Amino acid sequence: MQFIMIVGYLDGSSKPWTEDEDRPSIKTKEQARQWAEDCIKSFNDTLRSTEAARKLIGVKFPETQSASEAHVWQKTNLVTQMVRSQVFDTLLCLECGVTAKRHGLDNIVLDSSYRAKGFRSCRTAQELLKKRREKKNG
Ligand SMILES: [Zn+2]
Repeated sequence: MQFIMIVGYLDGSSKPWTEDEDRPSIKTKEQARQWAEDCIKSFNDTLRSTEAARKLIGVKFPETQSASEAHVWQKTNLVTQMVRSQVFDTLLCLECGVTAKRHGLDNIVLDSSYRAKGFRSCRTAQELLKKRREKKNG
């Protein structure tokens, strides 16, 4: 199956990038995720001195169009944040650029400038942000 690995440096020193994979032996998304994790692990296990350790940020599947409705979250903090006894991770969507905070395991709350309903879908968020930029420029 075809899938896209989203890869970054472990120390966050550069923007994440994508790597297209086409592996006929992989049949399920679960296998693809496992393969991607193993791939990064073996890369990190055999690092040359000029290479930096990598981490797997996510795996995307291009054949599922509905996936574009879902944000592709990347954690932007290295360590979990704590403000006024609230513990959270800060997130950035690699597709549309909206930001959010994740409380607990999967309670994701969009940041205050993205509270409109349309931002819940990545596809409509991209349209809304485009409109916002046009407004700013015009
Ligand atoms: Zn998004």
